[in-house]
Amino acid sequence: MQQAITMIAVGKLKLADDNVRDELGDIAELAASMKSVGVLEPLIVREDGLLVVCGTRRLHAAKDAGLKDVPCILGSFTDEERITVMAVENLQRQSLSPLEEARVFQRLSDFGLTTRQVASRVGVSQSWVVKRLALLKLPEAAQKAVTSGTLEISQANELVKIADDPTLVEKLVKKAEGGSKHTSLDVQQALEARDRAKAAKEKEKELEKEGEKTVVPLVDEFYKAVPPAGIKLVHPQAFGAVRMLAEEHAKLPCHAVGVHPRTAEVLEVCINPGAHPDPEKERQAEDEKRKQQLVAQKEQARLEHQHRIDFLKAAAVKPSKEIVLDVCYRALAEDTGYSYSDGSVALALLGIDTEVEEGSELDESDELERQLNELAKTPAGRLRVTFAFAVDRLYGQGNLETVLDELGYTPPKAVLEVVTPTGVGSGG
Ligand SMILES: [Zn+2]
Repeated sequence: MQQAITMIAVGKLKLADDNVRDELGDIAELAASMKSVGVLEPLIVREDGLLVVCGTRRLHAAKDAGLKDVPCILGSFTDEERITVMAVENLQRQSLSPLEEARVFQRLSDFGLTTRQVASRVGVSQSWVVKRLALLKLPEAAQKAVTSGTLEISQANELVKIADDPTLVEKLVKKAEGGSKHTSLDVQQALEARDRAKAAKEKEKELEKEGEKTVVPLVDEFYKAVPPAGIKLVHPQAFGAVRMLAEEHAKLPCHAVGVHPRTAEVLEVCINPGAHPDPEKERQAEDEKRKQQLVAQKEQARLEHQHRIDFLKAAAVKPSKEIVLDVCYRALAEDTGYSYSDGSVALALLGIDTEVEEGSELDESDELERQLNELAKTPAGRLRVTFAFAVDRLYGQGNLETVLDELGYTPPKAVLEVVTPTGVGSGG
């Protein structure tokens, strides 16, 4: 500026009440230099009213330094010009904080200038102006954090994208102040979540339009769609769901749908889970029943086994004919439908040859009947036949020795004699 410099008394100069500066900062150093060399750079002052356009800090420092007057360049400025000059001056010196810049740009916009016009007047890019202006949309906490330097300007620029959600912005400001460098990612995720929620809402509306009877709002909880209390999702396997195929459930009066807040997938929902039996409880009851049956079966088998051993032990301790007969009687009483031809062990015990003689007119079973009747003619013979079949029936597999070995029981000689008069079972 090639204008004349005029010395003006500091008391006569006035400060604009629309100063954009947050604070003057430390002016002691400036005051000290003024004491020794005076004010090197003149203040820019509007003639009308001696309003300081540029030089607020210098004026304060001059007062502190005890100077009577300061060098000034006088000019006539409209308010718009005054703020433009101030902006240019400060931008050149890079002495404004981002928010102070934002407020300067806002003043100029208030005069009706477009961001492009503001940019060209103060000599910065339009996007610079737009970005700075956007900072003013941030909630106060975020603006303060920018000014204090705890929030980086790049982080603040990210937060601008979600400025319409001050609660979230404040949360992310706190996180950034705590040292997080993920602001950009957090904002990105918030925006994506918002998009998803929007898509889900749209899907819900669409479904309502299509005439879905009930559309239940679902909440996204750790990637899971969660219905409100008293309502359940329908899924054949999922824990806590009404376990049914969606197509099947859709036919019921408790049918409803919900939209997955994350994927916008349409999910079958049950609005009356009480109408369904609890499949988990049913399964547990069935398990319990099966367990009890198994226990009962085992106990039955154990009793039967014990029963048989008791018979043999009784016979061993007191091998009277009565006991042997009792064993036979009980064994045969269980043998409804028993056929002689099945009793190979019994026949072996009795020493009966099952081979039918060549040329005989009898068939095999007739021949067996004949031989058995022959043996059973005497009371002792009848006893032998009966007991042999009892043993066969009771321990249908293998020979008598093996059976007794497995039972851990050695019958006394007397018993063996009854059963094996020809010595079966006494050999090795
Ligand atoms: Zn249902």
